[in-house]
Amino acid sequence: MPRPAPSTSAARHRRSGVEPGSGPGGASHAVQDAGDPASRDLGRDLGRDLGRDLGDVDVCVVGAGPVGGTLACRLQAAGVSVAIVDRAELPPMEHPDFDGRAYAVAAGSRRLLEDAGLWRELPQPTCPITDIRISDGRVGRPASRLFLHFDVRDRGADAAEGAAMGWMVEARSLRVALNRALHDRPGLSLHAPAQARVEQHRDHAVVRLPAGTLRARLVVSAEGRNSGLRDAAGIRTTRLPYRQVGMVCAIAHERPHHGTALEHFLPGGPFAQLPMCGTEGAPHVSAVVWTEGTALGERMMRLDDAAYAREVARRLGDHLGAVRLVGRRWLYRLSAMHAHRYVAPRLALVGDAAHGIHPIAGQGLNLGFRDVLALSALVIEAVGGGGDPGDPALLARYQAARRPDNLLMLAATDGLDRLFSSDSRMLRGVRDLGIAGVQRLPGLKRAFMRAAMGV
Ligand SMILES: Cc1cc2nc3c(=O)[nH]c(=O)nc-3n(C[C@H](O)[C@H](O)[C@H](O)COP(=O)(O)OP(=O)(O)OC[C@H]3O[C@@H](n4cnc5c(N)ncnc54)[C@H](O)[C@@H]3O)c2cc1C
Repeated sequence: MPRPAPSTSAARHRRSGVEPGSGPGGASHAVQDAGDPASRDLGRDLGRDLGRDLGDVDVCVVGAGPVGGTLACRLQAAGVSVAIVDRAELPPMEHPDFDGRAYAVAAGSRRLLEDAGLWRELPQPTCPITDIRISDGRVGRPASRLFLHFDVRDRGADAAEGAAMGWMVEARSLRVALNRALHDRPGLSLHAPAQARVEQHRDHAVVRLPAGTLRARLVVSAEGRNSGLRDAAGIRTTRLPYRQVGMVCAIAHERPHHGTALEHFLPGGPFAQLPMCGTEGAPHVSAVVWTEGTALGERMMRLDDAAYAREVARRLGDHLGAVRLVGRRWLYRLSAMHAHRYVAPRLALVGDAAHGIHPIAGQGLNLGFRDVLALSALVIEAVGGGGDPGDPALLARYQAARRPDNLLMLAATDGLDRLFSSDSRMLRGVRDLGIAGVQRLPGLKRAFMRAAMGV
């Protein structure tokens, strides 16, 4: 999940846009294709002008968040030469404290993390999600009797031993594994903290860094929602504000969760409890992602921990026993965003730089990982065959593979939020019937499960 900080001026800045991407004043810029046959030489000259020549790479990834970092590792693992740049410091050894944030990682995303050599490096255990229970209700009242229950065993013959619908991965755990890999891997050069200035030419891009200048056949923006490279390339975006905030925390509870996740639809927005591994002193722990109207959400964030935990309990129900907060609380202002194009000459967008969706289904990062799967497959094939990873036809194939899928998920999560964040009696009736209908149709249920698991 993106990194807000709750109480600093940086936090205020991030809260104003939800996501911690580069602002409009960010230092990444793309210059229009020079269209000059001599542009490669120009790039080399620029390298000399700016100091050290850092050489040539196949791909330069700008942004080492979960999406950009995973892309760099996946490419490196397949023998593609990669440079990666992040404006933040990425300490190789730091093990931050538990901070309560986690991602729900689908099965398809897990396979990507395995192929990138990151899954086995996660320093904290991951928690399998074996059941998901979806219900409708009101704050402080029992959930509707009509609910939807997904059980990994419903997948039938293709549900392997130990299978899960997804895994809860602590955000700090992925960060630690990524930082270590980005520092250690041969054939992968890390530049952080650093700002990149990028110039696109016909057959390569020049990336200027404080340490010197490198040339890449393809530059990938993984800068998050406020991608400076996307804006500088003239790629427009459509944004959809939600007038909602997402509040994230972890809770310790009395009774075990047995791997069950709960999505409880309330009039203010969805409230999700997601199973996590216990910590020292707290054997039963879950993550909570609570969506609420902005004004009420901000009021909730001002409550002290005990009062906040009581509000969490009112929404969760009593099936897990008494709850208390562990770690910190985080607030994200919610909006959806979609880039009109994912590619420009020598440039591709991945992850939140290309799209941002409502967290109602916990799919934002999973979509970014699917971008990584699609782009890395094309790049690995091209480089392996002696081809050009920044070839316009390759980039067009990447865009065609990913835009429809991401748009569909954006529309689905937007529709779900609108349908469920309403207290209208008629809509409540319709959605309860919908929930009950899906529950009775095993084929439809399996299709939903496959979509959620990314398989
Ligand atoms: C409340 C909430 C809950 C969520 N829960 C889930 C979930 O359970 N599962 C899920 O799949 N998704 C979830 N998401 C979505 C997920 O958090 C995002 O989709 C994901 O963080 C996007 O990753 P990213 O790497 O694309 O971007 P980011 O995480 O924003 O990373 C961008 C990186 O680029 C760097 N950067 C920015 N600008 C520059 C620049 N100019 N130069 C160099 N570096 C730069 C930044 O320092 C950062 O490292 C959630 C989101 C929210 C708001």
